Amino acid sequence: MTAPLLETRGVWQRFGGLVANSDVSISVGRGEIVGLIGPNGAGKSTLFNLIAGVLPPTQGSIIFNGEDVTALPAAERCQRGIGRTFQVVKSFETMTVIDNVIVGALVRTTVMRDARRKAHQVLEFCGLGPRADVLASDLVPSEKRRLEVARALATEPKLLLLDEVLTGLTPVEAKTGVELVRKVRDSGITVLMVEHVMEIVMPLVDRAIVLDLGKVLVEGKPADVVRDPKVITAYLGD
Ligand code: ADP
Ligand code: MG
Repeated sequence: MTAPLLETRGVWQRFGGLVANSDVSISVGRGEIVGLIGPNGAGKSTLFNLIAGVLPPTQGSIIFNGEDVTALPAAERCQRGIGRTFQVVKSFETMTVIDNVIVGALVRTTVMRDARRKAHQVLEFCGLGPRADVLASDLVPSEKRRLEVARALATEPKLLLLDEVLTGLTPVEAKTGVELVRKVRDSGITVLMVEHVMEIVMPLVDRAIVLDLGKVLVEGKPADVVRDPKVITAYLGD
């Protein structure tokens, strides 16, 4: 068996007295789509921040592609192949779609022409080709989500972290989003995705990990996870 692409080993995150992640050990194999689910406040986004390097864990370690990256800042983890969807910030809105994606591509090259070519490829891949020259602020919400994915893809990740990119979309938009995630995986990129709504992720993922109150509650095949009484209880209490 080949080593997993990503492992968290006994990871803890405390914010003062609040324990957001409590001894979380998960692994993601190469080529998998893994769903990280759980009620609001379960600690999903915190775990993403620990993996991407936005926060150092209070305790525990993050292993990526065979290397302990726990002490590395976010930019160096991005260089090593951890890509994530960005939070929407102000500068993003006042730039064109293509320029937003070029920012991501500049992680891999300093040659502007190459970055632009890469950005156009990624926009085509994400179905945003015709929107390249409009301002990001003029995109509809579902297109903004795809732009976030495009920006992350332009950094050429080995692992793509998606935080609720399918949440709040219409059924048709969610279907397009699901197809995009499949296409990303088929292109050789491993995906770890956070979603709050189980109905959306379960048909898409190879494996699901449920967080509740900062801890791993259950993990396994989606069909088994949705039937697990512990999972049903956690969601009913939401
Ligand atoms: P989820 O993404 O599963 O909804 P989060 O990881 O965002 O959950 O939050 C887990 C818990 O940690 C929540 O109680 C939240 O209020 C708290 N939390 C998250 N980030 C911070 C922070 N920077 N400072 C203090 N508390 C935080
Ligand atoms: Mg969250």
